[in-house]
Amino acid sequence: MIRTVYVYGSPVLRKVAQNITPDYPQLDALITDMFETMEQSDGIGLAAPQIGLSIRLFVVDGTPLADDDPTLKDFRKVFINAQITERFGEKVIYNEGCLSLPGLHEDVERESKIRIRYHDEKFVEHEDVYEGMAARIIQHEYDHLDGILFTDRVSPIRRQLLRSKLNAIAKGKYSANYKCRIG
Ligand code: ZN
Repeated sequence: MIRTVYVYGSPVLRKVAQNITPDYPQLDALITDMFETMEQSDGIGLAAPQIGLSIRLFVVDGTPLADDDPTLKDFRKVFINAQITERFGEKVIYNEGCLSLPGLHEDVERESKIRIRYHDEKFVEHEDVYEGMAARIIQHEYDHLDGILFTDRVSPIRRQLLRSKLNAIAKGKYSANYKCRIG
């Protein structure tokens, strides 16, 4: 089932999300819905707060980019109760977008490598190191769990320039080819 994406102005996007337990109701169905919603909106990542659920769960699918970046060939995963324990490597700037910020794209600086501890969809615990585009996608989605949006990470001058665009989204002045709402 395609879920509705909550856009900028929705309080849920600013909350710190909570960990979940393996008995979280209909977790499998939720994960399936998140992949479906992400694919239908051409996203490469989707965090639960973006569909209105303040829980520490996100899905990623970098495989559509694998032609340009072969390291993403198998990067289709579920991250539950994730904890980034280390960010390292050089700082890299990349132009990011977000399903919750329709029409906005900004350069965001992030570390090139991360170490992350998380549970997969079967609640098996992992600790992995990611780099490059995979680390970029994970850091973006992980931010959603802490109520952070990529626009919070741009330079103060850019943020100033963005203010009116953000206000417009919060007032419903945006267009997107997927189901979204403020709420
Ligand atoms: Zn996002």
